Amino acid sequence: MSMSSPYEIGPIRPPSEARSLLLRLTRNCPWNRCEFCPVYKNRKFSRRSVDEIKRDIDAAAQVHAGMFKTAFLQDANSIVMKTDDLVEVLEHLGARFPEIERVTIYGRAATVARKSVEELARLREAGLTRLHLGLESGYGPVLEYVKKGATPEQIIEAGRKVKQSGISLSEYVLLGLGGRKWWREHARATAEALNSIDPDYVRVRTLRVVRGTPLWDKLQSGRFARLSDEEIVREERLMIDRLEGMSGYFASDHSLNLLMQVRGRLPDAKEDMLKTIDRYLGLAEREKRLFELGRRLHVFHNLADLRDESRRAGVEQVLAEIEADGDTSVDEVTFELMGRML
Ligand code: SF4
Repeated sequence: MSMSSPYEIGPIRPPSEARSLLLRLTRNCPWNRCEFCPVYKNRKFSRRSVDEIKRDIDAAAQVHAGMFKTAFLQDANSIVMKTDDLVEVLEHLGARFPEIERVTIYGRAATVARKSVEELARLREAGLTRLHLGLESGYGPVLEYVKKGATPEQIIEAGRKVKQSGISLSEYVLLGLGGRKWWREHARATAEALNSIDPDYVRVRTLRVVRGTPLWDKLQSGRFARLSDEEIVREERLMIDRLEGMSGYFASDHSLNLLMQVRGRLPDAKEDMLKTIDRYLGLAEREKRLFELGRRLHVFHNLADLRDESRRAGVEQVLAEIEADGDTSVDEVTFELMGRML
């Protein structure tokens, strides 16, 4: 429990839950082995009792009743709770916060796949409206390489079950996860998995190799070759190009993504999304580097900002310094800057 909150709050929430009531149902991640993930490393998973959680909901209601329209249930995989227990918690939440319209939870595919459609439908009836699944990649060897602990088959099964239950489904995709070795396979197989699930949302995030993670060690020892910003965009293009028959929303709501404007409802937005990507890929090499640098320095938000002279000036100066230095590339600088971003 933090000093400022009368109830317990976990460390993270998705960007789309910035204005949500946060409630901690379990602590940390029961899997905790994904090699790219820094979030819960060195923290042990633990369950909280239903009574403890209900007391937290009561405490939250005392200070926040009527203030929230959405809630996010932390931490990494609280769907692991017994369905009966989770139903009890959801019903209590609904009773104390009747104005809440959307309740979201994170879930691991391997855990969700173990629940039946009926169980998931019970959760839906008790008030669970949205589930975020970490698909990351649809390519088996990539999932194995990063120790995701789920196969593409489990991911597809979990996704389909959630859809059938009526819970809105968000699938997280990690751009760049295939590295140089598997970027094509990662892009194609991820598109295939998404096509067979047809989630309500695809949410893309760009891989950030964080110091202290096992993937960082692999990068340092040359066992993982990461992609540059431009290469990741090429990978994203291939994936989007292969999306067929999807009707969900493609969201790029993480600031780590180079092209956050690549988003929209599928299938209609697909052409525009590819055009935006091609606009970036068609830039002169120096303009691409300028844009990448400007994004990582939080000066540019979208490609149109390249035409904004006042924004450009500062980034031009940094780029000129990198060029004059000669020892460092823009890619190395942006990689370093990304390491500092949240
Ligand atoms: S399941 Fe999620 S929270 Fe747990 S280690 Fe993997 S990415 Fe991190």
